[in-house]
Amino acid sequence: MSEAPLTTLQIDGLTVPYRVVRTRRTRRMNLRVGPTGLTVTVPARCSARRIQDQLHRDAAWIAAAWGRVVARAPAGIVHGTRLPFLDSEFEVQIGAGARVRRSGAHLHVPRDVVPEVAIEQWMRGQARREFRARIDHWAPIVDASPGRLVVAGQRSRWGSASARGTVSLNWRLMLTPERVVDYVVVHELCHLHHPDHSRHFWERVGRHLPDFEHDRTWLREHGARVLMMLRPPLPVR
Ligand SMILES: [Zn+2]
Repeated sequence: MSEAPLTTLQIDGLTVPYRVVRTRRTRRMNLRVGPTGLTVTVPARCSARRIQDQLHRDAAWIAAAWGRVVARAPAGIVHGTRLPFLDSEFEVQIGAGARVRRSGAHLHVPRDVVPEVAIEQWMRGQARREFRARIDHWAPIVDASPGRLVVAGQRSRWGSASARGTVSLNWRLMLTPERVVDYVVVHELCHLHHPDHSRHFWERVGRHLPDFEHDRTWLREHGARVLMMLRPPLPVR
């Protein structure tokens, strides 16, 4: 299965994000509208022309379904919502514009998108840069040689490290204080020495971050709430 990057479709003045997913497991074209936009699942060899024709035929249905998704969105993020961002915070401004953009203490979000989805996409981009910089800072200190960085988004964990050295970090760490991000980075880098939570593992974490218990406590007390932030509205059929 291969997934094309997200692009947009203009229908009736609406901007509908969409992606094409090619798979050998289907012979038919399938269109689905959810909180992340329109997903078009097509057979592996389906031509771009055939996809365009189908989108054209279903334009009214797509616009109506996406309209319902957008209308349902204000459950969480609205104009003026404050969002934590590392050691600072943003106030969401919903308005004109084509993309999410930061300007001082404001985060500008286009009007015709699901704010949760658009903000997550923006945050994932920020997270990649932020995590890269922190890993580059801590790796020599921890004496670890991490491999690939994966920006993940599970609702159950903050990070993980694989035997091959891949470090996965949850983009929602961008909603936590910077010292918590450092703690999770150091925690995962220490796993490259000790793949368990043994006494040796915790001794190593404590050597680099003597106050790490504060950060573990912070995650225990606030983690569940942060993991539920920016949850998009339910998909519409
Ligand atoms: Zn661990």
